[in-house]
Amino acid sequence: MRELGFNKEITTGYYLDPFDSFQEKKVTIELRHDEITGVACRILPYRVRIPQKPDLEPYLEKSPESLCPFCPDLFEKTTPRFTANITESGNFKRGEACLFPNAFPYDQNNNVAIFSSRHLVPMNELTPDYMRDGFLVCRDYFHRVAEMNLGYKYCSINWNYMPPAGGGLIHPHLQTIVSYRPTSFMQKLLSSAQNYAANSNGDNLWNNLIALEKKSNKRFIADTGVVCWLTSFAPKGMAGEIDFIFREKTSIFDLTELNFKEFLTGLSRVFTYLHTNNFMSFNLSLYATMNNNNYFNVQGKIVPRFVMNPLGTSDLNYFEKLHNEIICPTVPEELCRELQPYFKT
Ligand SMILES: [Zn+2]
Repeated sequence: MRELGFNKEITTGYYLDPFDSFQEKKVTIELRHDEITGVACRILPYRVRIPQKPDLEPYLEKSPESLCPFCPDLFEKTTPRFTANITESGNFKRGEACLFPNAFPYDQNNNVAIFSSRHLVPMNELTPDYMRDGFLVCRDYFHRVAEMNLGYKYCSINWNYMPPAGGGLIHPHLQTIVSYRPTSFMQKLLSSAQNYAANSNGDNLWNNLIALEKKSNKRFIADTGVVCWLTSFAPKGMAGEIDFIFREKTSIFDLTELNFKEFLTGLSRVFTYLHTNNFMSFNLSLYATMNNNNYFNVQGKIVPRFVMNPLGTSDLNYFEKLHNEIICPTVPEELCRELQPYFKT
């Protein structure tokens, strides 16, 4: 089986340590580069932990239900509606979940989906039942887009949960994007998969990634049936990255309600782990094609986000913003071992 292109290099620094009578201290930093994602990062040997559960009260004070456009009082008046050619009803509904156009779009087709009318939902209450209709209403919309036959090929479901991850409202909501062209990161994944196939007699990169990671048993969290859960070799965030890959699913339309149920059950396990470890925020993206692309499996990533106290310091800095390398004081293999028990209950 062709190798995956996970590259590692160790660099060692020395300084005189003021906390140890200025004795020489050795610091080891691991430089990693993942050829599949193109991500370069530096794994630091010391772990940053969040000492306390963040207080949600200040967020609620600054963003009360009475001012929230996604809460029932303002919802009908302030949310955009679809034009009648997309849906006569103006939006897509499933139970309490509702999908509607983003008032501040990033793309031609950028929508928002709320899960329910509930304003503040802490991370440990993001259960599969709570999340189900929110994700399925995104799928309903993708089906409608396919039915309109406009030639769109790529879609994603995205989530900025809470302000440290870029969430502009605390009311939980997803965002969907449907486009002719993939985003640059998705393009990188697609080209990696095509190159891999070209150099290995048509092998599927994602199947081989699953098989090789399972065998090496360092970053493979769990196999829940159709979905495989892994920690990323080279994470896209300081607190690491959790990946999910749907086996044998090469289009968003391959996913059944049962597949979503399995996926959301796994997600809620990840959230329980994050909540237990005092995180209150994450970014999530699910990437998919809309026409079976045999090179590309439906897949996605979760990156926990946080601010550092006492100053509320961001978890992004010049290294990531301006050098395209991620500083990661979380060893992916350790993160994997910590997550595994949450998938065994
Ligand atoms: Zn609200």
